[in-house]
Amino acid sequence: MKLEKSIYYYTKGQKHLVGAVNSPVRAFKSVGGVPLIIEKAKGSKIYDVDNNEYIDFVLSYGPMILGHRNKYVESDIKKALRKGYTFGATSKGELKLAKLVCDAFPSIDKIRFVNSGTEAVLSAIRLARAYTGKQKIIKFSGCYHGHADALLVAAGSGLATLSLPGSDGVPKDAVKNTLIAEFNNIESVKKHFAKHKDIAGVIIEPIAGNMGVVQPEAKFLKELQSVVSKHKALLIADEVMTGFRSKFGGAQDLLGLKADITCLGKVIGGGFPVGAYGARNEIMEMVAPLGSMYQAGTLSGNPIAMACGYSTLKELKRKDPYKKFNKVAGYLEKAILEAAHKYEVEVQVNRFGSMINPFFTKEKVTNFATAQSCNTDQFKTFFWKLIEHGVFIPPSQFESWFLSTKFSKSDFEKTVAAINIAMETVAKKSK
Ligand SMILES: *Cc1c(COP(=O)(O)O)cnc(C)c1O
Repeated sequence: MKLEKSIYYYTKGQKHLVGAVNSPVRAFKSVGGVPLIIEKAKGSKIYDVDNNEYIDFVLSYGPMILGHRNKYVESDIKKALRKGYTFGATSKGELKLAKLVCDAFPSIDKIRFVNSGTEAVLSAIRLARAYTGKQKIIKFSGCYHGHADALLVAAGSGLATLSLPGSDGVPKDAVKNTLIAEFNNIESVKKHFAKHKDIAGVIIEPIAGNMGVVQPEAKFLKELQSVVSKHKALLIADEVMTGFRSKFGGAQDLLGLKADITCLGKVIGGGFPVGAYGARNEIMEMVAPLGSMYQAGTLSGNPIAMACGYSTLKELKRKDPYKKFNKVAGYLEKAILEAAHKYEVEVQVNRFGSMINPFFTKEKVTNFATAQSCNTDQFKTFFWKLIEHGVFIPPSQFESWFLSTKFSKSDFEKTVAAINIAMETVAKKSK
């Protein structure tokens, strides 16, 4: 296949863009080779600058749940554009999207829009501290909550459990109030509560999606809920990835979780930069201008972004694709496992709703440590074979694949054929 133009623009891009990307995963570091430079996308497909066509399972890491350039959404964006780009004052679109989101989340009375998931999370943490008057936060290793200083710990290194910064430039002081626990291990949470008095909250991805898809055990979430409330801390559900992904609303409802604060992003912007955090009235009334917790944003609630988000959610609600997502993900799981079995490659598949990914390991993946047992060389081979056969999945073993409503039967068949070829290649190389 030809990737000449991607190579050309990637090389040229190095001069004025850091690593020729604006977010590290786009550089394909963990799979090697040249990252695709994208020209355009439509429906279930994405096209690189060499005009190669791919079935898109990246979907911009989640937001494009309706596929690319949905015609209703695009028309609503155009309408909004004709009214102006940003006003520095409230406009009606913000009210509409806020109502839609609050109605879909029983745990949210009020919401504040921001511009990214990172901003949503860092504001939610500030809010938990403001509300409880306490300082410490518990996060789980392998969960990613954006790149705010306090949360850039144990998002992927061997230093995970030591509460050491996961990035250069993060001051020790910024993470000294961050405690690390293990996903699906309630004792690791209880230990912190036994030792520390001033824990403001626990933040969790209710379905982890940033170490690959990892489901919580039912008992774990239930116990987590009771431990957190017993200690008068807040439970922060980071649903930036899972919000509107597996149901119209939050994964928290599917899992029976009662979040105190919820963080959103990705799907709620439909492809524009939107994040949000929300909670019941008594918590949200801490936020300025109602309360004493300050948080602001020049472009927050941007009218074009609100129009895109609202239109996307409205269309999602109408389509109600969630049952079908579940079914298709089930077929996909079956196809991956059959291919793995046929070529004798050790693979686990985890999925939840429209999030799914294979792990190249024989261990059941239930937390970050077991995710780390994967054979990333096998993933690398698998990834590039899929690219060669027109299937674009995230360039990392530790990312979820996403489904869109545009993913068709013929896309499915093509994907399964590609997976079989890729699995055969993995098997050959492993011998
Ligand atoms: C993507 C993601 C974030 C960060 O959102 P950005 O918009 O990239 O800042 C935070 N939490 C979770 C669970 C995410 O998946």
